[in-house]
Amino acid sequence: MDCRETILNVDLQKLRDNAAHMIDLCADHGVQITGITKGCCSDRGIVEALIDGGIRSIGDSQIHNLQKLEGLDLERWMIRIPAPQEADALIRYAEVSLQSEKVTLEAVNRAARELGKTHKVILMVDLGDLREGSFDKRELLEQVSFVTDQSHLELYGIGTNLGCFNFIRPDQEKMQALLELKNAIGEEIKIVSAGNSSGINLMRSGGMPEGVNHLRLGESILVGRERETFTYLEGMHNDAFILEVPLVECKTKPSMPIGTIGRDSYGNSPKPVDIGERKRGILAIGKQLTDDQTIFPVDPKIQIVGSSSDHLIVDLSDCDINYRVGDRIPIRLGYFAIMRAFTGAGIRVKYCN
Ligand SMILES: *Cc1c(COP(=O)(O)O)cnc(C)c1O
Repeated sequence: MDCRETILNVDLQKLRDNAAHMIDLCADHGVQITGITKGCCSDRGIVEALIDGGIRSIGDSQIHNLQKLEGLDLERWMIRIPAPQEADALIRYAEVSLQSEKVTLEAVNRAARELGKTHKVILMVDLGDLREGSFDKRELLEQVSFVTDQSHLELYGIGTNLGCFNFIRPDQEKMQALLELKNAIGEEIKIVSAGNSSGINLMRSGGMPEGVNHLRLGESILVGRERETFTYLEGMHNDAFILEVPLVECKTKPSMPIGTIGRDSYGNSPKPVDIGERKRGILAIGKQLTDDQTIFPVDPKIQIVGSSSDHLIVDLSDCDINYRVGDRIPIRLGYFAIMRAFTGAGIRVKYCN
């Protein structure tokens, strides 16, 4: 029996719509996309919906997630710089990877030779966000000639990542820098990959120069959000993932704790504010399976007070609905909460078409 009573409803039609909408929007600007599904651990049901929506290329940051996608009509991208010891699995379960280190490229070429395959490489360049990629042009050009010299590697393109670590905004200057690097390469390359969901605004405003032709999009497809300004995109769904969590306690309690306040698991002291007695509920979920910063109760009058490992404390005082213990409370999930829901095994997933 499945005894997991917290249920995640995934609306596949909304995800199909989001994929189709994003493909059209990007095509208008000469941009192809790879759908990034690390947020849902490349759940196969979801990836199939994205394929129905027109996606032909899927990326994830874990090879074991890509492994789930065997047999689907897809090009699979490994988007976290792989470790040298992952080379064999990489060749088996991904056709494309983002790369930035020569030792790893050597290992990948060796594994590809052993398995009789050719692997496509996107060389990453760092334009200032200071996460992955070659920082200077000379290193990039050395890697270009290294890749083109290998028997089982194909230089597929170059890519960059902005708005991921220091949240540096993609702008025309960065895109020009990327294009200049592409031109310096001299080889024919198919892909110039400008980044993630933080590149959509720039693209929509016509700021993507010709020749920059690819984006890797995760959050915008799953939750319809543009990342540079953190706004929802019109015409897209942001409620494809609704979690239903049982209410396990409902009592009136003071808002001020009684006793001396110590430290939490991060070493901080909570700073409660006295707002009198409140009607408080406990939902059967906590930090283990969700992220209390990126969840949004469907009833806007429910306020989230906080969470511990397995309990989510909510304030129900202002609600028009008289919630009772045993009710399932619907909560719309944002990106990190979706990620938690799929990473743990504690939530039952239900698809609706
Ligand atoms: C996660 C990730 C993406 C997708 O980012 P979103 O903001 O979800 O669109 C793209 N590229 C790389 C390298 C990533 O790690």
